Amino acid sequence: MLQQQTLIPEEERQKESLKFEDIKGHEHEKRAAEVAAAGGHNILLIGPAGSGKTTLAHAMQSILTPLWITEETSGTTQPDFGELCNRTPFRAPQNSIPCSQMIGEGKHIRQGEIFLANGGGLLMDDLRNYKPRVLESLRQSLTQRSISVNSRDRTVVFPACFLLIATMQLCPCGNLGDSFRPCACKPEAVHKYQRRVPRDLLQYFDLVVEVCPVPFSKLNDERECESSETVRARVKAVRSLTRKRLRGKTINCNAEMEPGDVRKFCALDETTKELMKSGMQHLMLTAGAYFQVLKVARTIADLGGAESLTAAHVAEALQYQKKGEWL
Ligand SMILES: [Zn+2]
Repeated sequence: MLQQQTLIPEEERQKESLKFEDIKGHEHEKRAAEVAAAGGHNILLIGPAGSGKTTLAHAMQSILTPLWITEETSGTTQPDFGELCNRTPFRAPQNSIPCSQMIGEGKHIRQGEIFLANGGGLLMDDLRNYKPRVLESLRQSLTQRSISVNSRDRTVVFPACFLLIATMQLCPCGNLGDSFRPCACKPEAVHKYQRRVPRDLLQYFDLVVEVCPVPFSKLNDERECESSETVRARVKAVRSLTRKRLRGKTINCNAEMEPGDVRKFCALDETTKELMKSGMQHLMLTAGAYFQVLKVARTIADLGGAESLTAAHVAEALQYQKKGEWL
């Protein structure tokens, strides 16, 4: 099915061309973005206004590979359609988007943003500012990996497998989490603000990462940052490895593994089990988060070329579970 062809405004083009090498500092955040892209893990970037969340989120487009690529079977290589098109789908709908455009609608079934992101990335910048119905449609598509579009006389179900990239500040004034600018919000206003995104949507993020403002010394650093091209090559290698491991299944990446796959491919030794247990208690994580941590640890191990999961992989995956305090 062909995607809708639209003219891309200049501002969007600039966001499209954002690269990792253009972003100074943020090493921890860029690493998390690489893990997310490699494993197909949904990622939420949180932090004060002006910390660079939106820039990072847009730059992720430069390291994404299509969710399904280079199927190698019986020694023959299928065409890599993502590479042929030279584009991974990437959609970044505005906060004001009506639900009908998010889902799709109409007599001739016009596809919405959720379908158009299928096989690529969907960026929701400032997640709390989307309409509740839009967030609900997003939650449904994450649950079902599909989206139902109603027209006058029929319902059509479209596939909706995408990597969700979202950003969020922590309070209405935007300064919470900033070391230099004090937050002017009352505690109840912060609480109300943080509750604007439903818990059952937040639980779909395998990685929740704090984005801290880059210190001046880093902004002035003349050393070259690693390029998006280099990062993307590692992402692609992990995707390819994962597809081989999951051959014969209907899933494409580590994030989509079922509990049975997790038990098979994410086995832990006794020391690592102990670390996992204490980490879960400390962060007050749910059973769902347990599987998320293991899947993310699998991706981290794959990026490092490791066969088995170690304590270091699990410890890093636990770092990305910042949401425990809200769920
Ligand atoms: Zn505030």
